[in-house]
Amino acid sequence: YPQLLAVLTRDGKHPWPDPALQASEEQSRKTQRAALGPVDTAGRQYAVVLAGEASSFALRIDVQHMVPWDTWPLVRNGPVRVVLALGPQAILLQAGADAGARPLGLTAGFGFAKALDSASQPFELQLQRATGPAEWPWRWLLGWALLSAIVLAALSALLRGARERHRAIQLLRVGQVARLNAMGELAGGMAHELNQPLTALLANTQAAGRLIDDDPPALLEARHAMAQAASQAQRAADVVARLRRLVEVPGASHPLQPVPLQAAARGVLELLEPEIRRRGVRVSVQGHDLVVDADSVALEQIMHNLIGNAMQALDEVPEAERHLTLMVSADNELGVFSVCDSGPGISAEALPRLFEPFFTTRRSGLGLGLGLSLCESLAQRMQGTLTARNAAHRGAEFRLSLHLAASP
Ligand code: ADP
Repeated sequence: YPQLLAVLTRDGKHPWPDPALQASEEQSRKTQRAALGPVDTAGRQYAVVLAGEASSFALRIDVQHMVPWDTWPLVRNGPVRVVLALGPQAILLQAGADAGARPLGLTAGFGFAKALDSASQPFELQLQRATGPAEWPWRWLLGWALLSAIVLAALSALLRGARERHRAIQLLRVGQVARLNAMGELAGGMAHELNQPLTALLANTQAAGRLIDDDPPALLEARHAMAQAASQAQRAADVVARLRRLVEVPGASHPLQPVPLQAAARGVLELLEPEIRRRGVRVSVQGHDLVVDADSVALEQIMHNLIGNAMQALDEVPEAERHLTLMVSADNELGVFSVCDSGPGISAEALPRLFEPFFTTRRSGLGLGLGLSLCESLAQRMQGTLTARNAAHRGAEFRLSLHLAASP
């Protein structure tokens, strides 16, 4: 038994030299079994005393040699602190790694305690393992973080892809709806735009027929009426071509050319001349001739619509008060064509809705409410704008602004 350092005996006559041994012997005598003697924590040893009749015995036990190091499951002198404790007293068996020296004071640990099942030696074996950042599984943690980042990135890429696909499908749908709308506008626009030239065409051809039937036939006037009819037919054909182009190539704009604003307005006035005369409208053309970048057919169509609307507004006022002013002016880089009438003007409710498709205040059957919305989209295709407001004095004012053509 290498753990036995000494076997001490005492005969009945002499007491123990150490009073602690004496006290333990009395304890042993009382309990009738071996009792724990004094513990020397620094020397890592303790004593066990057994009281007898003739002599009493004391064993001095070396704690260090009590440990079966050969079969000890832990690394010898490893990082685990091993202590045999008896209340506040502790015999150190193995110091273990010093947790106090860990960087940043970051320490954690785990412990284990087991009471040794012995009545005479009620020690507790305590094991303590302190850990710090140096022992933490950095590689594993880093790998885990990296893996999480990759998974998150993949997920977000997947989500983004799905969102983009969804957006593309939505855009396609919107495009289809827009095309359907455009088709609807085309059909409505055709009816609206063709109505006036076809009516004029009919009136002119009928007039020409009557003039030829006259005795003697008024050939000169008939020829003039036929020329008017031809120009109305041409206008109708242009409108059809223009409207078809609008839906045939969605988004593509017709090439813009330099067009003189005043000359275009005069051309339109000429077409509308019979209407103007019939209504007794006094027309004045003001300003100077500016050349803008425009598609002449679209420009004429806008002018025709604006002047047509103005004349319809003027129907609401007595003949003597029917004035129409066409004005061409420059505003920075823009050429502005404005149509002012002396009609009743635009009501506050109608003003914000004028350019909405199918918005009309005309009696049912007389207006489709497409004229201004069509004009606005035509203006936008020429990089221009169309606005409406009530004139300062009376009546309404519509302003078409287009970019001035670069001087040749
Ligand atoms: P429509 O002529 O078929 O009604 P428009 O889009 O050309 O369709 O016009 C929409 C509405 O704008 C008209 O119903 C009318 O109320 C109003 N409007 C247009 N021009 C004028 C104007 N010069 N004066 C007063 N109101 C106008």
